[in-house]
Amino acid sequence: MSEALLALGGNVGNSRAILDRAVKLLCDGTDVRLMARSSDYMTPPWGFKYQPPFINLCIVVETTLPPRDLLERAQDVELRLGRDRAHEKKNGPRTADIDILAYDDLTLDEPNLTLPHPRLFERAFVLVPLAEIAGDRVVAGRRIGDAAKAVDAAGIERLLPQAAQP
Ligand code: ADP
Ligand code: MG
Repeated sequence: MSEALLALGGNVGNSRAILDRAVKLLCDGTDVRLMARSSDYMTPPWGFKYQPPFINLCIVVETTLPPRDLLERAQDVELRLGRDRAHEKKNGPRTADIDILAYDDLTLDEPNLTLPHPRLFERAFVLVPLAEIAGDRVVAGRRIGDAAKAVDAAGIERLLPQAAQP
């Protein structure tokens, strides 16, 4: 079993419901098991500013899938939830974006998969939720809780849990 940290985000449609569905599709309970899930956060758009706020959350999973298969699973879930990469702007609106932040202590630099995620330490919208569930985890020599305190988290708002969806 390996441990992976993942970030989910979206700002098109009912993002909280869509990301909830994404977590369920991703973590089937056999080859990907959900170990921890952060709260949902409302975060200001990043990069391309004139778009609705994002919902972001992070999860910790245990998995028997190797990293590339886990990415393939994540991209398959993005597509099933209606993501259309061909017609979207970089950092623009999207239904569901799923990134692998870290996979055990593996370092990988391939065209389609870089681990740990190269922009992890710049992104408050990832570090703040991640610190809630993996504050003591060390990635690339940095404690996540410390990294989260070091970034500007202005405008990031933790949301209360929603009533369970049927
Ligand atoms: P972004 O997540 O940067 O907004 P995309 O979701 O469109 O953009 O991802 C672009 C590409 O990033 C994907 O095709 C994927 O192959 C690649 N990629 C590289 N490293 C990772 C990673 N750690 N997690 C997810 N995708 C990654
Ligand atoms: Mg992505």
